[in-house]
Amino acid sequence: MKVLKFGGTSVGSAESINTLIDILKRESQAEQKPVFVLSAMSGITNLLAETAEQAALGESFTGRLADLEIRHFDAVKKLVDIHNQNPLLTRLKIYFNELEDLFQGVLTLRELTPKTRDLILSYGEKCSALMVSRIALQSVPGALFVDASTLVKTDSSFGQAKVITQLTDLLIQEFYRENTDKTLIVTGFIASDDAGNITTLGRGGSDYTAALFGAALNAEAIEIWTDVNGMMTADPRIVKKAFSLTDVTYTEAMELSYFGAKVIYPPTMIPAFLKQIPIVIKNTFEPEFEGTVISGKAQPSGHPIKGISSINQISVINLTGSGMVGKAGFSGRLFSLLAREQINVILITQSSSEHTITFAVHPADAPKAKALIEQEFELELLAKKLEAAHIEDDLAVLAVVGENMKQTPGMSGKLFHALGRNGVNVRAIAQGSSEYNISVIISANALSKALNAVHDAFFTELNKTLHAFCLGTGNIGKTLFKQLYNHSKQLREKNKIQVKIAGISNSRKMTFNAEGLSLQNWEQNLNEKGEAANIDEFFDRMVGMNLPNCVFVDNTASPLPVAFYERAFKANISVVTCNKLANSSGYAQYRNFKDTAIQRGVDFFYETNVGAGLPIISTLKNLMVSGDHVQRMEAILSGTISFIFNNFKGDASFHDVVKMAQEAGYTEPDPRDDLRGTDFMRKVLILSRDSGYPMEASDIQIENILPQSCLDAQTVPDFYAALKAEDAYFNELKERAEREKKVLRYIGKLENGKAVISLQMVNENHPFYMMSGADNIIAFTTDRYYERPMVVKGPGAGAEVTAAGVFADLINVGAN
Ligand code: ADP
Ligand code: ASP
Ligand code: MG
Repeated sequence: MKVLKFGGTSVGSAESINTLIDILKRESQAEQKPVFVLSAMSGITNLLAETAEQAALGESFTGRLADLEIRHFDAVKKLVDIHNQNPLLTRLKIYFNELEDLFQGVLTLRELTPKTRDLILSYGEKCSALMVSRIALQSVPGALFVDASTLVKTDSSFGQAKVITQLTDLLIQEFYRENTDKTLIVTGFIASDDAGNITTLGRGGSDYTAALFGAALNAEAIEIWTDVNGMMTADPRIVKKAFSLTDVTYTEAMELSYFGAKVIYPPTMIPAFLKQIPIVIKNTFEPEFEGTVISGKAQPSGHPIKGISSINQISVINLTGSGMVGKAGFSGRLFSLLAREQINVILITQSSSEHTITFAVHPADAPKAKALIEQEFELELLAKKLEAAHIEDDLAVLAVVGENMKQTPGMSGKLFHALGRNGVNVRAIAQGSSEYNISVIISANALSKALNAVHDAFFTELNKTLHAFCLGTGNIGKTLFKQLYNHSKQLREKNKIQVKIAGISNSRKMTFNAEGLSLQNWEQNLNEKGEAANIDEFFDRMVGMNLPNCVFVDNTASPLPVAFYERAFKANISVVTCNKLANSSGYAQYRNFKDTAIQRGVDFFYETNVGAGLPIISTLKNLMVSGDHVQRMEAILSGTISFIFNNFKGDASFHDVVKMAQEAGYTEPDPRDDLRGTDFMRKVLILSRDSGYPMEASDIQIENILPQSCLDAQTVPDFYAALKAEDAYFNELKERAEREKKVLRYIGKLENGKAVISLQMVNENHPFYMMSGADNIIAFTTDRYYERPMVVKGPGAGAEVTAAGVFADLINVGAN
């Protein structure tokens, strides 16, 4: 059997009810009778709520009550045979009289409790289900009106009551068993508590009623009939290009609806998921549309994400306090307090510095949340361990959702690019712990533009074919080819991007094919059939083949290819490189590359020059193009040095930690190549230049970590001996730091055009205090991110992530 739920618009007028009755007639022929769940007529729940609220303020309710009557009577008069109208009109009139009494009570007392409100709202569903059951009775014998408040049992949290599932299941099963010959027309949304008081399941809750019935009766499907073609890639009222989805998973539907896709109420997914019953979203006004299926598994959709949703009005509360926030127990206290007071926290982001918590709530809850915090943390506020809570209004959340998102490179880059290019300022970011969504908080008035821009970025068919010429077949080159090979089908089918590798060369051999070289056995082909390598010739051939969307990919660390970049740009070929030498040699060269690429309208991407696959270069770029100004950058950009200082604590000697780093494969053969900071310096130089300073390498001041004796050592074993001899020096540094409750960090900093890399001691309030493994981290303090910096942190080395960064750069070529 099936459960079918019809939303407000499906019972909104005589015409829609007629359409609904057709579906009802057809479906109730089934051997096992379906159950029909109905919402109130569209707009009626709002009207009831508004009337009650106004009555509590002393306003008359008679006009609104009359409107309510007319909406229902009108439908009855149009749809019920004239001789049979009276009994129904009388029953409805009884409801309206009861409502009148309730409104009068509210008006007299000037008080509207959540309990009374629920009781008043329940009439919307009672009227519509009663009315439709009687209309149905004319053509469907056995149509029976069911007030679900006697079957769905909840606790007494009025407004959004919690269902007592076991009891509800039993009651529904028993009732269905007793009425197998009937066609049940059930009220959605309403329930009752232990004492029989009417409760409601939260706005939009009729969907949930349907799922409760579906789960209790082990339905084969739960159909949600509404006014649009299923679940769409975005709210079609805001995004005109939104299109219907064939199928989504329970998780995706949950995330999309949680972040505002009103088409289905989030809790609906739970009973369905537990029983693995598919939910099908159908369109009453286009019944032949097959519907969106929500189930445990979804077919690949052809796009990297499933949809974009949004909550158009939220408020954000910031809590700051170095003595309090971030300490164990604080968040627990804060969020249990809010939960206890039924304040729904939509989203939380904790800054990396760990002494700020930002969370989003509905605007109506914000003042109450602030007051509660002031009460609960009065002592901490007095002691200045916590600063006064700060509310920001007129914000919105935009969330990009999809279960396959995490396997697709470049998703957040695409999102921020679309927002940045359109001048939408991102106030905060929360990557869902589920990895099924990335949500950003933006200004509410930018929402429509943002939704459309992001929708375009993710769903507009690009249909582009890139022709890549790749130099270098070391670790990164190999990994890139492997990733491209594994992902090419998906890239083509889902992203409509085809990457053809038209040329490959290493220092020994080179090979070409305008149709694309095989990525499965490229290595064998190159070795066996390749011509002798010649870099001049490689470039000539690349230019000569004159292929569209041509990209030169430099996966080497050699100075040789760099000499050809300018030629590439001048031939309208984009360059993607992980080779740091191009941007960290003379400034004039750096400038020339950038200017030439812009002049020729081609791309020059080098995300992996800093922090491998981490979005550092692109974040900086997006900040700059959206008109922000970088005041200060602080960073740890050497994975090796990061690893060493993260482990230099407790009893470990510096000598032992360096040795360990080398044994774990984190260092160059001579660890001094890392410890001298040259590589770190190159990255700082590139970032300085990208933030607008025409610097040379010599402008960057590097404070040596190593004493002279270690630098002077002739061989690596000599170096280790010298390092051991300096144990006392390093121990003294470590102990001093520990005494002051600090840690040692080798930090690069750019401020006011001055760049310094130095060994520093930082305390627990510093964003770099908590670091692990060989992570890279960078904190941008800008005109917009001035209270707390924007931080990017994560693994900043390794072939997989670097190749993924090159991959993302490559497929982004020509994206704008
Ligand atoms: P019902 O009254 O049938 O329960 P709702 O108004 O609750 O209908 O939900 C349907 C509406 O949800 C649509 O009219 C549409 O404007 C809105 N909506 C928001 N996001 C989406 C989305 N991603 N897909 C489809 N509809 C959406
Ligand atoms: N009528 C209720 C509301 O408007 C429940 C629903 O439509 O699902 O919220
Ligand atoms: Mg709804």
